Amino acid sequence: MSSASLANMPDLGKPWPVAPRPFFEEAFGSWLGRVATCYQISVRTLWETSTGLDLPNLGKAGWILFPPVCASALHQLSSLARVSEGRLAAIQMPPEWMVHRRYLVYCFRCLVLNDADVSAPRWKREWLNPEAEYCTAHHSLLETVPASIFEKSANFDAALGAMSRYRTPRFPGNIRLR
Ligand SMILES: [Zn+2]
Repeated sequence: MSSASLANMPDLGKPWPVAPRPFFEEAFGSWLGRVATCYQISVRTLWETSTGLDLPNLGKAGWILFPPVCASALHQLSSLARVSEGRLAAIQMPPEWMVHRRYLVYCFRCLVLNDADVSAPRWKREWLNPEAEYCTAHHSLLETVPASIFEKSANFDAALGAMSRYRTPRFPGNIRLR
C-alpha cells in the first residue's frame, strides 16, 4: 500500500502523485475504490475532492456499481490520474446495468489472481452485468456476495476485508484454533 495519506491528497486540478491504472477488464467503481485505497480515504471523499461534484445517488451496491460518469468528470479524473479519457470511458457501466440488486456475483479466483498484476485484486466489469452467471475465464458458476458490502465499505480494501469475513464464517461458540 502507498504511504500517501489524506494529508498528501493533492489539490483539485493537480495530478495525483500516484494512481493505479485501470485494468482493461475492470469496472470503473473498482478502479475508483482502488485509488481511494491508495490514499486511505473513502470513495466519497475521493470523488468529491477530485471532481468537485456530489457523489451520485448510489444504490445498494454502492460505488462498485458507479453510474456512468459525465464528460466533465471523466475529463477531470483522466487528467488527475494521467490516464486517457478513452480508457476511463471504456470501463463505465452501461446504463442498462444500473439495476437494483441485493447480491453481486464474482469469481473468487479471478478476483485474487489478477493475471496482469497479482498484487492488485480488482472487480471485473463483466460481473456487474445483471445477466452474468458464469466466469468467462474458469467456466464455473459465479459466487455471490451481499451488495451491501460495498455500500458499507469506504474503499476497495475495506470491501475486500468485508468479503473475506463473509466467506469465512466464524466458528460457533467462539472456539479458538490456538
Ligand atoms: Zn474466474
